[in-house]
Amino acid sequence: PARTSELSVTLLGATGSIGSSTIDLIRRSRDRYRVEAVTAARNATALAALARDLGARFAAVADPACYDELKAALAGSGIAAAAGEEALVEAAERPADWVMAAITGAASLRPTLAAAERGAVVALANKECLVCAGSLFMRRAAAAGATVLPVDSEHNAVFQSLSAGTRADVKRIILTASGGPFRSWPLEAIRQATLEQALKHPNWSMGPKITIDSASMMNKGLEIIEAHHLFDAAPEEIDVLVHPQSIVHGMVEFRDGSVVAQLGPPDMRVPIAHCLAWPARIAGANRLTFAQMTTLTFEEPDEVRFPALRLAREVLRTGQGAPTVLNAANEIAVAAFIDRRIGFPHIAALVEATLEASAARGVLREPEAIADALAVDHTARSLARDLLPEIAAKAI
Ligand code: NAD
Ligand code: MG
Repeated sequence: PARTSELSVTLLGATGSIGSSTIDLIRRSRDRYRVEAVTAARNATALAALARDLGARFAAVADPACYDELKAALAGSGIAAAAGEEALVEAAERPADWVMAAITGAASLRPTLAAAERGAVVALANKECLVCAGSLFMRRAAAAGATVLPVDSEHNAVFQSLSAGTRADVKRIILTASGGPFRSWPLEAIRQATLEQALKHPNWSMGPKITIDSASMMNKGLEIIEAHHLFDAAPEEIDVLVHPQSIVHGMVEFRDGSVVAQLGPPDMRVPIAHCLAWPARIAGANRLTFAQMTTLTFEEPDEVRFPALRLAREVLRTGQGAPTVLNAANEIAVAAFIDRRIGFPHIAALVEATLEASAARGVLREPEAIADALAVDHTARSLARDLLPEIAAKAI
């Protein structure tokens, strides 16, 4: 029987790192949540197992080739199975009060937008959709009366800190960065970095794409663009500070000199719990033990060793379709690095080369509809694929 206090939730990207942390929180208070739909890229067996366990009504895999496996794994459960891109959109369109958007990459755009357009509470973990089509996304979400809650730890921290004052009194938004595994490495060593080294994040356990983005600091670059859209902040209002301990997640400086920060353990269950219960609070993760903390340090980021940060600042200045191109090229580059087809410094090099090629071809128009953004994304991906062999052969 449905309880009035029950929250219906849909998990887009249920099998990933954010998806698992969300499920962990939901499992602790099963009577408080009802799961409507769950999705995954292609791991049908894992998806079916969690759909059964959570009592979901609908499960969708992105890859149509995985449909039979999903259908077989859900046989007799009463849970509807579906596959393909449209099935992800359908999952998002189904009536759930709260939707976790945790699909990796621009692939998240259409389903996340579908959830926003029916006015749901969207817990936004995915940042690529804001980089790909941020203005459009925020405009459509606002028009539909959706509530967009930032899950990304820095943005969640800023969101919480902003409630201490009015937007007009904000002087500066500060995103902290762990600096990733290569924070203290000289440029020469970073150039030789292996996949295994890049996958070893010092503080956070996350999916492979964001882990590589953290090593290149492209993650922080994407987050600057994400903050620009979420908080309607000018690029000059957004600062990045390297903070290796990952305790202070974000800060807001107000006109009077007050700096309000959110602190917490480096555990995504904290911002996810904040979004799940907002504006109330529920149990999230282990508490911080201040007496065991010896130092909290802050340093300026280095755009020479981490050119991705410079590129992200540049595309934000260029505007139009440039952030869309940056995101698309970076997705291709990270996938190529994970496949060992390019070296670590080639990630930023491929992104930069794709931006230059796109500008030369005039692909950088401002996307006016989602279809335009997806067209720019598509063109940029094929440009990046074409440029890949040339960049891979380059000695950097
Ligand atoms: P992950 O790789 O662990 O999981 C991604 C999920 O999306 C999986 O369920 C996967 O099956 C699904 N998926 C991947 N590609 C897909 C596609 N093309 N179509 C449909 N489904 C697809 O990733 P994650 O670490 O959980 O990150 C998810 C999102 O959250 C990313 O956008 C990331 O930037 C963001 N984020 C993650 C963290 C973190 O701590 N993991 C922190 C902040 C933001
Ligand atoms: Mg983050």
